Amino acid sequence: MGIEARARGVLRTAAREVSRLVIPVQCPGCGEPDVRWCARCAKAFHHPPERMEHLIPRLDLGHGAPVLPVWSLTPYSGTTRPMIVAWKDRGRADLDDLVSPAIHRACTHLAPLMRAALRGVGEEGLTVVTAPSSEQSRRVRARDHLAPLARAATAALRHQGINTHHRPLLTRARGRDLSGLGATARTGSVDLKVSQRHRRRIGTGGSPIALILDDVVTTGTTLKSMASCLSDVGIEALGALTLAATPPPE
Ligand SMILES: [Zn+2]
Repeated sequence: MGIEARARGVLRTAAREVSRLVIPVQCPGCGEPDVRWCARCAKAFHHPPERMEHLIPRLDLGHGAPVLPVWSLTPYSGTTRPMIVAWKDRGRADLDDLVSPAIHRACTHLAPLMRAALRGVGEEGLTVVTAPSSEQSRRVRARDHLAPLARAATAALRHQGINTHHRPLLTRARGRDLSGLGATARTGSVDLKVSQRHRRRIGTGGSPIALILDDVVTTGTTLKSMASCLSDVGIEALGALTLAATPPPE
């Protein structure tokens, strides 16, 4: 661990200790007091990743085209839902310490699969591409909440010998924000584009093979738009990894 990362860790711990004196901490899943999260609620994030694309309605490209493989750790239900909401949108960035190791474990688990998929086509390794938030969400959160997950994914895959880089290649074209919309409203495609900053780098380094990373998959619209946007610039998505997947309606 570098000095900078260690310093960040020390500062984070200090900030947490100070805030604990002012704001009582509790598990966002079940409300258990005086713990950042409880073992019971954390358990969902210890599941190995499972293929979920057959449960996701909007991933089907039709015409017999293969569906983008999607791995998720847990259903977006029960206590998992408030935990992810707290982490993403309720100021519990300290839950990075729960979700980042979960993504690290998932990527370690998926590494043999990734390695096999890259054989012959991905000498340059793998690019981790995170789902872009809208400008507004980014401003409200005051951070890119997927960046720690991308760091964890990159570290795990590198540790398994896969040359991996995180490049946030995509941005939202018109600042549309899907958070807060129900599944039925989240139809159609998401307006994404390759960011100007990264457009220049495509074709001059960086792998043309990508792993998409997002927090929650709901209808699959975002993942599908990401895969097709990447494909437009010659990058093939091997699949997507998310923390959680919204179960289909009963
Ligand atoms: Zn709990």
